Amino acid sequence: QFESIGFIGLGNMGSRMANNLVKAGYKVAVHDINENSMKKFSDMGVDTKKTPFEVAEDSDVVITMLPSSSHVDNVYTGPNGLIHGGNLLRPRLLIDSSTIDPQTSRKLSETVSNCILKGKKDNWETPKMLDAPVSGGVLAAEAGTLTFMVGGSEEAYLAAKPLFLSMGKSTVYCGGAGNGSAAKICNNLAMAISMLGVSEALALGQSLGIAASTLTKVFNCSSARCWSSDTYNPVPGVMEGVPSTRNYDGGFASKLMAKDLNLAASAAKAVGLKCPVTFQTQKIYTELCQDGHENKDFSCVFRHYYSGKNE
Ligand code: NAD
Repeated sequence: QFESIGFIGLGNMGSRMANNLVKAGYKVAVHDINENSMKKFSDMGVDTKKTPFEVAEDSDVVITMLPSSSHVDNVYTGPNGLIHGGNLLRPRLLIDSSTIDPQTSRKLSETVSNCILKGKKDNWETPKMLDAPVSGGVLAAEAGTLTFMVGGSEEAYLAAKPLFLSMGKSTVYCGGAGNGSAAKICNNLAMAISMLGVSEALALGQSLGIAASTLTKVFNCSSARCWSSDTYNPVPGVMEGVPSTRNYDGGFASKLMAKDLNLAASAAKAVGLKCPVTFQTQKIYTELCQDGHENKDFSCVFRHYYSGKNE
């Protein structure tokens, strides 16, 4: 249904996602403020554009993969942004895959749905926006095995599904605008808390004389089993091929986890929900970054808070 795809934000994730769209045979045009990132694509023969507006002029769909809410806001509504003069759009669909706060996703969705569709080609009266953040890091982006959690119109979600499946292996429709962003920050909140819980319990076990590898075996066939214990264990030497066995290099950086926890904490404040564990978890990961471990995988909380070798 969609032929020409614009892609904005060619960083660690976006460059790989855009590359998978090219491999899937879509006509792709890209933009990034970083010239070096653009050059890699122009060298491959992919069309590069100087501004988001130029991308929009040439695309049926535009996907953004940017650092945070302010960057997305700027690319959508700033000077030379996707939305021309505040009300005109060539693309029928805008998809934002960045991890941002649900309030910004909802505000932008409303702005997009108030636009006039330039050169109308189907029965959509107005352009549509989906918030479609991803789970899975750089390796999943490279392999095309991301999970997309999607908020917005269901009709737009179904139309966009082939695009998601060119970059990922699964999609979950989460409901109205902003629900994809809400799902993403809640997923990462639960992941951050479970990593702390497993780390704290394994450290206490070690202090009580049980080896972390033995206690992990117990967890993994008992009720404490979770992703942090059986897939991404934080204790060096317990599992092969995870960041804890390579000095916490690679994986999901603590600074990205801290950013997602800031989004969860401000969302909790915005809705007035008491979330004591969220705020404590936010504090721990913020300290981890302030102590200089912002580029290490987030499972390094075990080493820095619980192993008795605090630096
Ligand atoms: P990144 O910093 O590597 O890439 C962001 C890119 O956006 C950069 O190339 C930057 O130059 C570009 N950019 C910034 N402002 C721009 C603008 N105004 N116009 C055009 N380009 C602009 O970040 P990333 O790791 O690719 O992450 C992108 C998003 O995905 C973030 O929201 C992040 O939280 C989320 N995410 C990341 C991971 C991960 O493991 N890295 C996993 C899941 C989700």
